[in-house]
Amino acid sequence: MTQTPTAMAQRMPTATTSRSPRNRVPYAALCETFVQIEATTKRLEITDILTKFFQRVISLSPSNLTQCIYLCINRIGPEYEGRELHVGDSILMKAVVEATGRNLQALKADVVEHGDLGTVAEQSRGKQRTLATPQPLTVPQVFDTLKTISEITGTSSQKRKIDLIRKMLVACRENEAKYIIRSLAGTLRIGLAEQTVLQSLARAFVLNDSETRKMSKDKLENELASATAIVKQVYTELPTYDQIVPALLEHGVHHLPEHCKLTPGIPLKPMLAHPTKSLTEVLDRFENMTFSCEYKYDGERAQIHRLEDGSVMIFSRNSENLSVKYPDIIARVPAISKPDVTSFVLDCEAVAWDREKKCILPFQVLSTRKKKDVTAEEVKIQVCVFVFDLLYFNGKPVTGEPLKTRRQLLEENFIEIEGGFHFSKSMESSNVEEIQTFLNEAIVGNCEGLMVKTLEKEASYEPSKRSRNWLKVKKDYLSGLGDSLDLVVIGGWYGRGKRTGTYGAYLLACYDEDREEYQSICKMGTGFDDESLAGHYKFLSEHTIEAPKNYYNISDNPNVRPDVWFDAVQVWEVKCADLSISPVHRAAMGLVAEDKGISLRFPRFIRIRDDKGPSDATSAAQVAEMYQSQNINPVHGNKSRDDDF
Ligand code: ATP
Repeated sequence: MTQTPTAMAQRMPTATTSRSPRNRVPYAALCETFVQIEATTKRLEITDILTKFFQRVISLSPSNLTQCIYLCINRIGPEYEGRELHVGDSILMKAVVEATGRNLQALKADVVEHGDLGTVAEQSRGKQRTLATPQPLTVPQVFDTLKTISEITGTSSQKRKIDLIRKMLVACRENEAKYIIRSLAGTLRIGLAEQTVLQSLARAFVLNDSETRKMSKDKLENELASATAIVKQVYTELPTYDQIVPALLEHGVHHLPEHCKLTPGIPLKPMLAHPTKSLTEVLDRFENMTFSCEYKYDGERAQIHRLEDGSVMIFSRNSENLSVKYPDIIARVPAISKPDVTSFVLDCEAVAWDREKKCILPFQVLSTRKKKDVTAEEVKIQVCVFVFDLLYFNGKPVTGEPLKTRRQLLEENFIEIEGGFHFSKSMESSNVEEIQTFLNEAIVGNCEGLMVKTLEKEASYEPSKRSRNWLKVKKDYLSGLGDSLDLVVIGGWYGRGKRTGTYGAYLLACYDEDREEYQSICKMGTGFDDESLAGHYKFLSEHTIEAPKNYYNISDNPNVRPDVWFDAVQVWEVKCADLSISPVHRAAMGLVAEDKGISLRFPRFIRIRDDKGPSDATSAAQVAEMYQSQNINPVHGNKSRDDDF
């Protein structure tokens, strides 16, 4: 049953106790907020519920606010720190067994039935017996324990994790066990997007300010909207609550941008591009604007940070620290800038490089490079860095400057190193033939196509945004194949004949951000060689789960029920002939057809996307957009295809 806000308020510490150092947010108050959020799909309601919760935390236990936010987004630190909460089902089940005295087999059967160990843990609580009632859990206590669990490694790590989880479970009341288990499993699944958390945070600060209480309704709405925009923008430049929350508490929303800026050492989510289908589409979009065409290099995105103290860090498009993978790049960074350059953040692509022939090698070569424990001397696959943007320069963010200025700064202050560091190749023209020739040259040079970017107007760097000011033109689009999709592998069928002993086909899914679920999109058995099949089997057989998660959206049709289910852990790049409406797959269901999804025709495996996490997979909205924009006969396109499994 949904708890009322009054019930929740009773659980929060009262204002009179707010000065006490023991004034901690009860975990129950957070869980009640989760229950209310889970009970609605309306974003406005969710925002309202969370705003009220944050308002109380800000007034009563401000020092717990950061931890409350992390628990809401199910993280235990900024993303770039790479600390993961993803405790395996077997450890969680053992902990539930130990905490409740239940039989493991019965527990497993319940999990298969419900598809959610969290719910099963909550229901199992009633069966537990304790000698003394433990103290109620608090937010800092749960957060610290989750953090400790995420850091446990080495021998007997499993036992230590189980012990800590068991202790928390024993202290759980009402629905707390459900959320603890879900947090540990790495998926809270209450329909709470991070953007809503940011919005609620901004609103809570505005509404707690006594000045705004006197405002007219219209003025207050404006104030709420502008505060939300500020907090969201600041977060794109400095994506860490560890700095944003203390600054908000100390300086308020309006002064936040003065205190929280892009900072070398803290990676930001990169700007992304929109796909286009032809050069004429590009010219239409950028009519009357100056724009630049750049080679689209096919390697790995690398954000290179140089701090004032001279240290250098490299991050992936997913904010993963790549410094251990690229010691050779780190070693050459001191030589890429002029002497009076003290600090910077560069947006680049690292590409495999043939030193003898002095040319770019295809992506497949880069993907064979070792990812860990690499020393500069033992590097076998050489890389060349192509820089295409500058985000921070000599103590100041430059993301707000137009690309033309950022590029000028790059050219004036950085130095190319033959085969090691180059400016991305670019040209300015609005003549379609010239651009076509440039595109052909890019493809001959082992590039994927072109990136076309506005130079002066609407030309700032927009972190974490898929912007229409950057357009990508890939060779495949031009040959009518369309963009590839990045899909999560969630199931497998055992292979027969030559494929015996591996999985012969796989079930793939896109990710629906709004519903926080993986939606099946196709069954795929093409594009593999023997080596890749063996590799997938080895990796995925370690990630099998007993039953599909309750956040996998798959129909009951036996054709899409695989022999084995996988945890959503790996993303694959997939190409297909086209997309069609499907009676059995659930991708983008409701976005194009009311009760039908979209599936891929003739999908084929291209590569593993190590640089994308499962929730970075192609979204349901993107699938719908791709379906709608494909240049096909509408009759054919809208027809359901029963054969599309
Ligand atoms: P997306 O990032 O759009 O979700 P994706 O990761 O598959 O998809 P692509 O469609 O290949 O990326 O296009 C964008 C990527 O191209 C960038 O993330 C970057 O790694 C790469 N890239 C290569 N050259 C450039 C360039 N000149 N400017 C910007 N990005 C470039």
